[in-house]
Amino acid sequence: DNAKLANSAPGSLPRFRESQLDDNVGYFIKKKLRIWCRPRNCGWESGKIQSTSGEKASVLLSDGSVVTVPTQELVPANPDILEGVDDLIQLSYLNEPSVLHNIQCRYSQDVIYSKAGPVLVAVNPFKDVQLYGNEFVTAYRQKLLDSPHVYAIADTAYDEMMTDGINQSIIISGESGAGKTETAKIAMQYLAALGGGSGGIESEVVQTSCILEAFGNAKTSRNDNSSRFGKLIEIHFNGTGRICGAKIQTCRLRLTNACDYNYLNQSDCVEIHGVDDAQKFSSLMGALNTVRICKEDQEHVFEMIAAVLWLGNISFLVIDNENHIEVVADEAVMNAAGLIGCDTDDLMLALSTRKIQAGKDHVSKSLTLQQAIDARDALAKFIYASLFDWLVEKINLSLAVGKQQTGRSISILDIYGFESFKKNSFEQFCINYANERLQQHFNRHLFKLEQEEYELDGIDWTKVEFEDNQDCLDLFEMKPIGLISLLDEESNFPKATDITFATKLKQHLSANRCLKGERGGAFSVRHYAGEVLYDTGEFLEKNRDPLNSVTIELLSSCTRRLPKLFASALQQSQKPAGSLIQSGILACQKHSVATKFKRYLWSAGITFRYAFLIPENSAHQDPLSTSVAILQQFNILPEMYQVGYTKLFFRPGQIGALENVRKQFL
Ligand code: ADP
Ligand code: MG
Repeated sequence: DNAKLANSAPGSLPRFRESQLDDNVGYFIKKKLRIWCRPRNCGWESGKIQSTSGEKASVLLSDGSVVTVPTQELVPANPDILEGVDDLIQLSYLNEPSVLHNIQCRYSQDVIYSKAGPVLVAVNPFKDVQLYGNEFVTAYRQKLLDSPHVYAIADTAYDEMMTDGINQSIIISGESGAGKTETAKIAMQYLAALGGGSGGIESEVVQTSCILEAFGNAKTSRNDNSSRFGKLIEIHFNGTGRICGAKIQTCRLRLTNACDYNYLNQSDCVEIHGVDDAQKFSSLMGALNTVRICKEDQEHVFEMIAAVLWLGNISFLVIDNENHIEVVADEAVMNAAGLIGCDTDDLMLALSTRKIQAGKDHVSKSLTLQQAIDARDALAKFIYASLFDWLVEKINLSLAVGKQQTGRSISILDIYGFESFKKNSFEQFCINYANERLQQHFNRHLFKLEQEEYELDGIDWTKVEFEDNQDCLDLFEMKPIGLISLLDEESNFPKATDITFATKLKQHLSANRCLKGERGGAFSVRHYAGEVLYDTGEFLEKNRDPLNSVTIELLSSCTRRLPKLFASALQQSQKPAGSLIQSGILACQKHSVATKFKRYLWSAGITFRYAFLIPENSAHQDPLSTSVAILQQFNILPEMYQVGYTKLFFRPGQIGALENVRKQFL
């Protein structure tokens, strides 16, 4: 059925114990114990072994049929008494079919949550299950209910934050459509209910999702409401456990594929069954009011959306044999210019020419049709992305009004889930890379917890080998030769094409077991969650930052709201490569999309807060070394901190010093 299991991917859970019967076949026959087998190489089926002969076993399935299967492939089933247990670690035999069976048993009774040790496993019900609301909140808060639930996870986080004063994080992972964003919202609702005070900040926190989803989500073939951005929500609490503020950080991938727009009518999926757009729109307006975005700014937001849509309808006329174009002077270009706040002529110029250096001077050169389409789409994407960032900034301002920092917080991380479509492009490449990073964090954290528990309990344990995905991360991140560095290299090389990129990566990276060369411009990556076939078409263009200098000039000269909306984004685009900021410590280059994304993920592994301080040459190091590099760059003396296995420990006052440096850069 349609059920999607958070972390259902093969290899994403620790290796199961006792996955084979080994020498116990005789015992299973004698005691008539149930086993699992995969007779038709599709689903698992349960049955009882009747006899064995050589390497084969004859198995009586539950439906009465008898099949012959290799003895080696039989795995033990659990006794009936363990059917549907709350926590998978209660199972006597922890193997794939037993885990799936247990989760399915529960799911068939609308019990969508189970535990796997410290991890909550959620299966998307794709319908309303009666598990939420005030009564459930109260029951979990008063510990009257203890069955696995997001509420229980949020409750534990809250209690531990309050009793130990330690900040908590809730990390949600799973493939696209698994239910991560809904789960994040359910956790937020619980925390809002617990920490609700007089200021109404809790309802602001809950309503932010509505705004971010309205602008940051899109319908895909896997999820009607698919997040195209990742978010980290920090909820701050005061000493008495009341919410006193919140903060949202987003990482974004290119939000939209502008060709989806022409921008909206080509995707064939503009309607969602059962969704009332008018009603959603009115909730959106309500939410914008709640976070104090004034009427004037709300108008600007929708003007910018309209500008993006008009941009998508701008067309070009080819005027010579070399495919040079001019912009068709119709209502599309006039409306777009009017909404952006620039001259129609200037917009037409920006979309049809670019400046190139000739000696000391700049000369204008006409664009070809493809270049003009790229310039138009790049401008539309830039406006949309800046608008989204501006919204996040506004929301954060509203959430932080008059709130003092208490240091107590619970963070919820919800990113775009693993994706594998028929055709996978640069967007899936970035999304899946992000999930690969998250998976590594998850694996390591889980095993660390387990080992700590063994040690605490004085258990004599041998190290368990678990599926590590370091090879796959290396494939992406290795320097000088990894997928991302090769992509950057090719993106900077004028004659490169998608095919030369594909050929290069097959040439240089085929030693890595996670890469599989495919024909033509394709390649496959063996991700922890399965193999994905990528098509390199458009990888290079999408990886370059394609806003040209004429467009940047145009945007900077706009007389209306643009400068306000786009100030910080424009500043970034205008910095010349290698320019030194302020004291000359940081080299801030114009980065490719993939490299920016990688730096973002690295920074997510350490101190989100100081991510932008990461020195250029340390981006490929592990998070701890990168953190130390940051401290060295900013003259924090070695005696002021100590480096642990996973954390840096500061002497008092050092965070303040870092904060001061940070402020200088903002
Ligand atoms: P993801 O963020 O993992 O891509 P979403 O959280 O957007 O997935 O979930 C996709 C859809 O699944 C939602 O729009 C909703 O219809 C349904 N869904 C997810 N979790 C639940 C839940 N707990 N109860 C009911 N429906 C859910
Ligand atoms: Mg989502």
